[in-house]
Amino acid sequence: MKMKKLTVLSALFVMTLFSCTKETATNEETPIAEVLEQAQGIERDCGYVDSNWPSTAKLSTTLTAAAGTSADATFLSGQNTAIKTFWRGATVAAPTFRFVNNGKDWNSTYNAISYSNGKIYFGEGIFKDAKSKDATNLINVMILAHEYGHQLQYAFNLPSKTESTVRSGELEADGMAGYYLRRGYGKTSFAQISTAYEFAASIGDKNTTSSGHHGLPAQRRSAVRLGFLLADASNPKLNAKDFDYNFFYYYEGVLAGTYRMAKPANIDEAIHSRIMLHMDELMRIKNGQMSDQEYFNLN
Ligand SMILES: [Zn+2]
Repeated sequence: MKMKKLTVLSALFVMTLFSCTKETATNEETPIAEVLEQAQGIERDCGYVDSNWPSTAKLSTTLTAAAGTSADATFLSGQNTAIKTFWRGATVAAPTFRFVNNGKDWNSTYNAISYSNGKIYFGEGIFKDAKSKDATNLINVMILAHEYGHQLQYAFNLPSKTESTVRSGELEADGMAGYYLRRGYGKTSFAQISTAYEFAASIGDKNTTSSGHHGLPAQRRSAVRLGFLLADASNPKLNAKDFDYNFFYYYEGVLAGTYRMAKPANIDEAIHSRIMLHMDELMRIKNGQMSDQEYFNLN
């Protein structure tokens, strides 16, 4: 949804006659990876970020020492470019990437947001937690790849499938993250990225009637798994629109239980035969019938 503006003059800036408008969100936030839209593409030079973050939060290209190292910041910023280049090539600009810090109030920055005006803001709280669960920053790469998936959705008017909640777009972004981790980041076995998938599932929610519903944990797991399968090196590389077509063709079948489908003409033969081998598996993941141990040992 578009955000309306409310004029609030920050006391801090009254003295400098620097007027800032504070944007207010009208939607309820969920803990991570929201898709939000902003009307204007201007990065604000104010003491606050926007109303999705605490009033005391600040933007930075670096991490505070308690959240991570300069190497971490350089690494993730590099991934911001690498993920863009993987999907859209060298000539398209990478999103503006910033960390959001708010001292050591980690809960208040436990979020990452992709904006329709080409910005990705990554909270220090979620960065720190993700790094603590995988010191290689694989989980942070997955979160960033998910957020870049929203940039692709803005650019190409995706997802093609819409629902009464944001679920379809969130699951597609999970799938795009799985796709990148295998095909772009080079993690060829599922076990290599199990920490990222475990994290994706952990942030699923059960608020299926809320407009902010991101997908049940098991659905998020099956979405990243499907993205990973589509990324098999033997398959042709998909652009964002083709990924969307393939993702929802198979995911619809998984969700609806109508997965023994004839192949449409515009789906690649190699992809189809390969994905069909995994449809029962995807169904079991989506239904929550697969144990963690089995899931993490998938090929
Ligand atoms: Zn998201």
